[in-house]
Amino acid sequence: MKIADWSVLTTCPGRNYVLVKLVTPDGTVGWGDATLNGRERAVEATLEHHVLPEIADRSVDRIEDTWQTLFRHTYWRGGPVLNTALAAVDMALWDIKGKRYGAPVYDLLGGRTRNGARIYQHCGGENPEAVIDTCTDVLDDGISTLRLRIDDFVDVEFGTTNVAMLRTKVRDVRAAIGTDPWLILDAHGQLDPAVAARTASALEDLGFLFFEDPTRPEDIDQLSRVREGSTIPLAFGEVYTSPWEYRDLIERDLVDYVRPDVVHTGGITALRKIAILAEHYSVRTAFHAPSDVSPLGFAATLHTALSIPNFGIQELPGYLYQDDQSAYQAEYALPVPSQLDTVFSGVPELDTDDSVIDIDDTPGLGVDIDEERAREYDYVREPLPKPRNGDGSVRDW
Ligand SMILES: [Mg+2]
Repeated sequence: MKIADWSVLTTCPGRNYVLVKLVTPDGTVGWGDATLNGRERAVEATLEHHVLPEIADRSVDRIEDTWQTLFRHTYWRGGPVLNTALAAVDMALWDIKGKRYGAPVYDLLGGRTRNGARIYQHCGGENPEAVIDTCTDVLDDGISTLRLRIDDFVDVEFGTTNVAMLRTKVRDVRAAIGTDPWLILDAHGQLDPAVAARTASALEDLGFLFFEDPTRPEDIDQLSRVREGSTIPLAFGEVYTSPWEYRDLIERDLVDYVRPDVVHTGGITALRKIAILAEHYSVRTAFHAPSDVSPLGFAATLHTALSIPNFGIQELPGYLYQDDQSAYQAEYALPVPSQLDTVFSGVPELDTDDSVIDIDDTPGLGVDIDEERAREYDYVREPLPKPRNGDGSVRDW
């Protein structure tokens, strides 16, 4: 069976998503997510001018071979643009394979290893008191692992922060929520190594499932400094774009959770490669799933999560729990959930009774796209944030 036709569809139901459609001669359709936040047009052009013309007439069955071709035959391999394009093709091929065999993708990946994927939710707020209110609401909704963002508690500038104040405020959160819920702290790669190490040891006794992205992604040696001074588990890697970037992290025991992203690391095939390596080192997954991973990409993430033995926990995209008009939605230009629902159907649903998310046994990835509605939402140019320190120098975000 060959790829007979393809197209790229860009839609903006409150946020831009780039989608790839592959069609077989018998009309079977496979969809893939090719969304690279803030650089959507670059991937769209890569797919239309370079990638999709080169895979026309290839066998839809040869997913690994297509992955190898798109990764290695570019010669200048990898990077966010090329690997996002590759990821979209990979997802679409898994979607087609599932539909052809009448099986959900997780069955093709070896079958379920669990009944659902344990989840965590972001708890933000304008100030620490507001964060505590959000945490309480989220716990009331049945979610038992809460992710905090460092700059909701303290200012982070020049790679440093007031660690003592952070500890005091996080202790207030712990006092308000009790001892049972797990916490996650995300520093978004903003801390210098010594500050990150001090932060890790200061928070060690406050019940953290993991400390996420304590240092910048360019130099993983910085993580060893955090490791030396603390036993707090570490999660890292959400901006990496190739399976090979996880190898040293895992083999050198620098992380407890890896955070590859199905859209930017090369699709389901890439996530599997990373998860299998991680399993050998007792490293678990916490797959990255921000709101710029579309419901289609999120479904692909879950099919992988449900089929691996070393799954850890799953981040929830904001559109699964935010209202159309929430302050969080407005601040981060997130998709409008009700518009999203007009484009994507079969979106995975939360089961808050067990604090898990699950997908059903619909063949393929299980998500359908209403192309007509999607075309009603034109692409909107949305520049990425460009924060600065007080002296005007560039700050990470
Ligand atoms: Mg993060």
